[in-house]
Amino acid sequence: MTSKNILVLPGDGIGREIVAEAVKVLGWVGSRPGISLTIEEGLIGGSAYDATGVPLPEETVARAKKADAVLLGAVGGPQWDKLDFSLRPERGLLGIRKALDLYCNLRPAQVFSPLIDASPLKREVVQGIDIMVVRELSSGIYFGEPRGVETLPDGRRRGFNTLSYTSDEIERIARRAFEIARKRNRKVCSVDKANVLESTGLWREVVSELGRRDYPDVTLSHMYVDNAAMQLLRNPRQFDCIVTTNMFGDILSDEASMLTGSIGMLPSASLGDHNALYEPIHGSAPDIAGKGIANPLATVLSVAMMLRYSLARPVEADLIEKAVNQVLDQGLRTADIMQPGAHQVGTGTMGDAVMQALQTEK
Ligand code: NAD
Repeated sequence: MTSKNILVLPGDGIGREIVAEAVKVLGWVGSRPGISLTIEEGLIGGSAYDATGVPLPEETVARAKKADAVLLGAVGGPQWDKLDFSLRPERGLLGIRKALDLYCNLRPAQVFSPLIDASPLKREVVQGIDIMVVRELSSGIYFGEPRGVETLPDGRRRGFNTLSYTSDEIERIARRAFEIARKRNRKVCSVDKANVLESTGLWREVVSELGRRDYPDVTLSHMYVDNAAMQLLRNPRQFDCIVTTNMFGDILSDEASMLTGSIGMLPSASLGDHNALYEPIHGSAPDIAGKGIANPLATVLSVAMMLRYSLARPVEADLIEKAVNQVLDQGLRTADIMQPGAHQVGTGTMGDAVMQALQTEK
């Protein structure tokens, strides 16, 4: 029997509503043979600020470091927008990623066949896509020094940032991508701009060397980022795992998520060497908070990622994804993914339907 400790951080807005449904699914996981789960709840974001005066209490960080995995809802809301930047809910999120040294961001873009018509692209282009974008999260141009805005002697102003990667930073994210590809279709496409940027020339060199040395069983290809942006729309099915820098990954993962057409369906994972955080890609949706209509499926699918990447329970991960497909097949839809002829349900009913599908799994 393995015992695992999960820290749940509902956060703000719809966070509490969607996390409640995911906790039901965690309850199902804990009832499976060979695993027991302890689920604790903590504070982050605006609700943490209201309760403690800071968006990321020390206690939350300490408990997150001890947990086997963290599940986060979402943070933010207009009532906290006037606070100083250092106290904003979003600082809580950046702070926890930094405190846990989460350098690897995984964003799957998968089309659920019952929702295929929600994609802005043609059915024949997106049918069957299953892409994992592996984005470097803790270095690159968003963190590089020197950075700033200066005034030149002639009075003009100059803004500058630094794109820098060390070989060990590149190797650790590339290793993650190769390992993940091994659990999928054994293909990695490394995206860079090696024809123009020296730092990504080094990126290409390090990724190639690692692939040759340690992952000869994984097919590695390289693509310039401008071409990758185009290929994602032209022929997304050619991709299995994409590994790329912080900024390119920021942009390409948003582009890839739009292939599926539904923000309420997409989970994510942020991994470090010792900790991991799972969360839906969407925000706290203040416009619908408290109405009981938010889509909980991205959070439920984040639990599936947790099972796969932190808890070594791929069977349960598959069962959760199957259950989500099943409720969609039954025609159940929350308002954000509503289609003609489907049956509109609220957050709780959608969560209950997933639970029912799980309980009747063979
Ligand atoms: P958002 O993702 O919260 O909402 C965008 C739109 O999508 C809204 O119309 C919302 O109703 C809808 N939506 C989002 N998730 C949904 C769901 N599960 N079910 C149904 N509809 C859903 O983005 P925003 O409006 O730009 O930001 C709102 C707040 O969230 C801001 O304070 C922002 O800073 C914060 N935010 C937090 C995160 C995070 O916690 N990871 C990410 C993005 C934005």
